[in-house]
Amino acid sequence: MELAGAIAELARSVARDFRHIDATSARVVLVEAGPRVLSTFHPKLSERARRDLEELGVEVRTGGRVTEIAPGVARIGEERIAAGTMIWAAGVQASPAARWLGVEAGRGGHVPVGPDLTVPGHPEIYAIGDTAAHVPDGAERPLPGVAPVAKQMGAHVGRRIARAARGKPEGGPFRFRGRGAMATIGRNRAIAQMGRLRVRGFPGWMLWGLAHVYFLIGFRNRLAVLMNWTWAYATWQRGVRLITGAQI
Ligand SMILES: Cc1cc2nc3c(=O)[nH]c(=O)nc-3n(C[C@H](O)[C@H](O)[C@H](O)COP(=O)(O)OP(=O)(O)OC[C@H]3O[C@@H](n4cnc5c(N)ncnc54)[C@H](O)[C@@H]3O)c2cc1C
Repeated sequence: MELAGAIAELARSVARDFRHIDATSARVVLVEAGPRVLSTFHPKLSERARRDLEELGVEVRTGGRVTEIAPGVARIGEERIAAGTMIWAAGVQASPAARWLGVEAGRGGHVPVGPDLTVPGHPEIYAIGDTAAHVPDGAERPLPGVAPVAKQMGAHVGRRIARAARGKPEGGPFRFRGRGAMATIGRNRAIAQMGRLRVRGFPGWMLWGLAHVYFLIGFRNRLAVLMNWTWAYATWQRGVRLITGAQI
């Protein structure tokens, strides 16, 4: 999602640097298999994200799974979408740990785990982080593969192993404590939810930026990032440019 917004913004901004490129001819199509974009967010935020993307010029296609990619064309069932550049951002494949352990992998190759994060049938083996598919009680699908989940799983398993080493009972099941989630769509556009609080648009974008700066390690890093971002925001310049030497 973030990528689609960034590409749409890039398509507009290149016109300044490359006079021979007609930015209006750029077509950015986002294909999402699920019924809505950013489906882990509240439906209203999800709808806002879609609107933001559309305002940036992105064609958002939901409810259709890409079935084939060939040079110059992507297929969604019978439909063909002509495309010069295709970017696959439909998640990552888990490590081959399930195969090594001889257990049946879940969707994406993840190792299924029980409430205590042990592999079913193997109380001596834990699977955590992106490798594990942990489905909390009452939830329909596993926790997302993000850093806070991996960190809390690691801490949980560390405590269990320490207790077991001291001959104590290993403790209760793993419970993820989510502090919230954020996604940026583009300049001045982001969505954020923390418990019942839902923020969108410019305030969401500011919150997203401040949270990222806050979680950096060290004052010097925070200051450097803040200054770089402020400069990029004020001047509309992008941080990284690749000069390939190709004639355009
Ligand atoms: C592009 C990208 C952007 C992301 N952005 C965010 C974000 O903004 N916020 C967020 O919360 N999460 C984000 N994530 C997800 C987050 O990075 C992961 O959820 C998190 O790192 C998972 O931690 P982990 O310890 O399970 O795996 P990892 O952090 O991937 O660590 C696994 C380690 O194991 C090593 N390894 C792999 N195979 C072997 C092997 N056979 N033997 C030995 N070592 C091996 C790897 O080199 C790696 O160092 C992003 C992920 C990607 C790919």
